[in-house]
This record gives sequence, structure tokens and C-alpha cells, in this order.
Amino acid sequence: MSVGVPGYVRHLLAPNPSPMTLEGTNTWIIDGRVAVDPGPLDEDHLRAIGPVEIILRTHNHVDHVEGIPRLVELTGAQELPAEKADVEGLTVIPSPGHTRDSLSFVIDRRGDRVILTGDTILGRGSSVVMWPDGDVGAYLSTLRSLSELVGVPVLPGHGPALPDCAAAAGWLLEHRLERLEQVRGALERGAETAEDVVEMVYADTPLSLRVAAEWSVRAQLEYLRGSP
Ligand SMILES: [Zn+2]
Repeated sequence: MSVGVPGYVRHLLAPNPSPMTLEGTNTWIIDGRVAVDPGPLDEDHLRAIGPVEIILRTHNHVDHVEGIPRLVELTGAQELPAEKADVEGLTVIPSPGHTRDSLSFVIDRRGDRVILTGDTILGRGSSVVMWPDGDVGAYLSTLRSLSELVGVPVLPGHGPALPDCAAAAGWLLEHRLERLEQVRGALERGAETAEDVVEMVYADTPLSLRVAAEWSVRAQLEYLRGSP
């Protein structure tokens, strides 16, 4: 977890590992004051975050936000909504795709930047475009804009930190476009339902991730139906 993590950012791993959350949810603590994604309702984890003043969420999924009310109780910290989250060198970048409400946060310290990406870019593997809340077209646009952040380290919502946002976003973009081609191909070969497409395109996906693959396929089908 040492790749590109600056000294003013502390990492805490929540004890909620699963096929969807990798090792667990990453909670990032900036200057000891700002907690991004407090994670699940786990007393030890929330206490370990320490006396923060501000709480931010990358998106409204339970593995990122469930602990927020308890963290507020413990610390008196205030949760800032997206439109007010621009604080002291921290800029909000709307990053719809994984979910419609997904945000990234760029921290700039005299030109040294890092980006916190929530589930928009994970430390390992591809992110799921949730259906019906996610949006493939929006995700492609988000990845295109994030692929301009050359050399900016990524602090993701799950998995290890990555050295280069541009490389990570570029890889995900390529992967997503490849999957879209495969889904298109499956439709041409006669797939009729999302289940058919999962069988044909995600045959190598472990069973524990099949449900996620099906959400992803439904989101991709919706995108393909809406485009020429
Ligand atoms: Zn998550």
C-alpha cells in the first residue's frame, strides 16, 4: 500500500473483505482531519479513524457509508455533501458510471496531486457498472477524463494504491470497450437475455462474481440499445 501514498494521507482497511470489496473498504484519512469513506459499521474500525472533523463519501454504497452516523457520534465530525466538499486543496470531480452519484476527490499540495476514486477505479481488476443505478455511457466519459491525469497516484475504494491515474483509467476504458464488443457479438450470435450474455461473455468469471457480471451486462445492454 505504499505506492504513491503521500505522508499526509493515512490508510485504514475495513474488516469487510468479500469478492466485491476485495480486501475490504479503504478508508482514507487526510491530515488526520478528513475521513473519506468511513466504511461499514464496525466499532473498532471507526474508532481507529480518530478525531476527524470532516467526512466525505465517494458514493452511497453501504460498504462505504454505513459507519458514518456512528463516526459522527464518536467525533462530532460533519459530513459535507458533494456540492460543499471542495475544501482546502481538495477538489470534487463528479465521476458517474459505477453509480450515478460517484465522486472522485483530487488533493493538490503545491502541484503534487493524488486522486481518491472510490469504486470508479479499483486497485485491482475492473469496476462494476451497477444496474440500474450505474451508466455505461457516463462511465466511459468519466474514464476518458480521468485518463488525462497522467502520473497522478490513485487511492481507490478497494485494493492497493496505483501509481498512475491515466494508466489505470486507460486500461479500464479499453477493458470496458472490449467487453461492449463482446456483448455486441453475443447479441449477434443469438443471445437474448442478460443470462445468455453472461454465459457467453463472462464464462471465465467465478461464480461468486456472476451476479455482479449480470448487473454489468444489464447496464451494457441498456447502453447498446441506446446507441446506434
Ligand atoms: Zn465499494
